[in-house]
Order: sequence, then C-alpha cells, then structure tokens
Amino acid sequence: MHTAYLSLGSNLGDRQKNLETALSQIAECEGVKILKCSAWLENPAIEEAGPNPFLNGVIKISVKSSPIELLKELQRIELNIDSNRAERGRKSARIIDIDILLFDRLKLDSAELTIPHPRMLNRNFVLKPLDEIEPKIVQETVYSFFKLKPEYKIRRMMLSDLDQVCIIEADAYGEVHWTRDNFVSELDNTVGDYNVLYKDGTVAERASSRLRRTNDHSVLNVHEDHEDDENAEIEVRQRCQNENEILGYLGSWMIIDEMHITTIATAKNHTRKGVAEALLIAQIFKALEQNIKALTLEVRVSNVKAQGLYEKYLFKRQGIRKRYYEDTLESALIMWTEDINSDEFQKNFRERLVELVNKSELFDK
Ligand code: ADP
Ligand code: MG
Repeated sequence: MHTAYLSLGSNLGDRQKNLETALSQIAECEGVKILKCSAWLENPAIEEAGPNPFLNGVIKISVKSSPIELLKELQRIELNIDSNRAERGRKSARIIDIDILLFDRLKLDSAELTIPHPRMLNRNFVLKPLDEIEPKIVQETVYSFFKLKPEYKIRRMMLSDLDQVCIIEADAYGEVHWTRDNFVSELDNTVGDYNVLYKDGTVAERASSRLRRTNDHSVLNVHEDHEDDENAEIEVRQRCQNENEILGYLGSWMIIDEMHITTIATAKNHTRKGVAEALLIAQIFKALEQNIKALTLEVRVSNVKAQGLYEKYLFKRQGIRKRYYEDTLESALIMWTEDINSDEFQKNFRERLVELVNKSELFDK
C-alpha cells in the first residue's frame, strides 16, 4: 500500500461540483482510499489559465497501484468530467485538473510523470492545503529537493581544513582577509558555526559512511553533534582530511534568535557552481530548525557579488557602518532578513532552492 497526495483544481463551470465529482470518482477507483481532504480554497489563476479564479484543494490517499497506473486512472477521471480537455490544451482554463504531488518518498522523472510534482514548491495554492492536511510534509519535501550528489558534503570546519581555507580566503578577499589565527579562534567560538562544502575522494567516501550513520536524520549531510560518536568521528575526519577538497565555506554566529553570517567564500576554481548558495541554504535550514527569527550580516560595500547573493535571499539593506573594517577603513553594509518564517521569505526560499538545484551540478536531480 502506498500513500499519495493529489492536488485538485477547477476554474470553469460549477467548480465545487467538479471537484466533488472528481473526489467521488477517485474514491471509486480500485485499491484507492481517500484518507484526508483539505478545504477548497479560491486562488487567482496562474499564467494563461485565467481569468476565472481556481478552486483548489489537496487530498491524501492510500493506493495499491503504481504511480503510472494511478496517473492513468486520474487522467481517465479528468476526461470523464471534461471530454474536451485535450482541445483546450495545457495551461488553459480547465474544468478539472488532478496532479500527483507526492507518492510515498518516491523521486521519479520520466516523460510522463515527475514526482514530486516539479512545480509544487512554487505554488502556494498547493502548499497551503497540503500543509493543512499534513503539517511538516512541505518542509520535508523542500528538504528532499536539497540533495547534494553523494560526493559532495557539508560538515563542520576543522583545524585540519585551515590550510585549504586560508588559500580560498586569500584568493577570495585579496590583501585584506582573515588570518589562520582568526579562523582558529572562530572554531573555538561557542556561538560560532563554521561549515565547509567539500568533495571527497574514494578513501574519504569509505570512511565517511560511518559519519553518515550518525546523522541519518539529517537530509543535508550536515554534521550534527553526538557526544557518543564524537571520538570516532574525529578520528575518521582526520583520516579523511587529505581526501577532502574544500569548495567553499560559510561561517555564522547564533546569538539568541538571530543568525549572523560572518564569512562566506568559494574556491576560485569552483566558482559559478552554486557553492556559496548551497552553503547559505544549508545554513538557513539550520536557522529554521533552531528557531532563529532573522539573519543578518555585514558586508564590505565593495563586495557586490556577495550582496547580490544575499539580496536573492531577501536580505535587505538596513544601514552602513562607516569605516568599519580596520584594515582598509572601508564601510560595511548591514543587511537583515525579515522573519524567516514569514510567507514571503519562505516562498522565495523555496523558489530559489528549486532554481539552484535544477541548475547546479552539485545536486542530484
Ligand atoms: P498541469 O501541469 O497544469 O497539471 P496538465 O494537467 O495539462 O498540466 O498536464 C499534465 C501532463 O503532465 C500529463 O501529460 C502528465 O503526463 C504530466 N505530468 C508529469 N508529472 C505529473 C504529475 N506529478 N502529476 C500529473 N501529471 C504529471
Ligand atoms: Mg495536471
């Protein structure tokens, strides 16, 4: 038996009746049981499907058949309710649309069927009712999209990484950059959280399978502290270090309910792959897990590239600290996000995440 979530929508005719007819026909399919049903909510039509607004909802079903067989059944029901469906064409207004959002934890990408539904994370009219019937599943689905290829991992920065980190730092920031001593003291900073994104070789791959067992719950491959395993991990990590090529790093401080991003850099031969962005996303996941309310940072006014990345994630300019950097007396731009749980931040976060995963070679599709 499988569990699936379906979205239903209608913006032509008697919308409520269309949805309810679809529901009863779904309930009649062999091996299908409707377990939960959200409220029907009205939403403006997207793209060329207007002008009539849609009525949308999401249902949870148990189903015996395969995803493809389920899709065929749903298409049969769509045609039953709207025999002219094909003539109106995709994206147009429709009497009924039934999509498969999720099917167990399956990931499928074929010509006929993509699961999870590729556009679901961009559509609040799907996410809101889904969240209503199954809290947490939206978050889980967002996490499931963020899947680095097995050779790429994110973990805490260690002293043994600093040779590589200092080279990346010097390349990224030129004359004025953090010294090895700065990093050494930051790794000791109790509010500090410094992470590297690295690519590991075969030796490291074998060793790190032990690491992964300790954080099975973490979809990010982000290392979590477990005292029991700590010694074993330290030993494993030390053995790994020569095999780990560091692509970039991000540092932050957590101060009560704020996260301060303190540094971010990408190795010069790995730019334009989304390394910094992947690290930022992983850190935002952490912030959300740890009930952080807002993220903030200071960035050199000349560091336009970093500002662009932060703006993409809705950091807003809040002020200037004049002559902030002791080395060059350059000013710092202060940037803040709004509440990271707000609808606006979350929607943008999901959209940027899906965009990055689709275009960056670091991710499993
Ligand atoms: P929309 O993208 O607005 O749902 P249609 O329902 O007209 O547009 O298009 C359905 C097409 O999308 C079908 O040909 C179907 O094979 C394909 N498809 C791919 N993934 C899914 C999915 N998860 N659920 C439903 N249809 C899907
Ligand atoms: Mg459809």
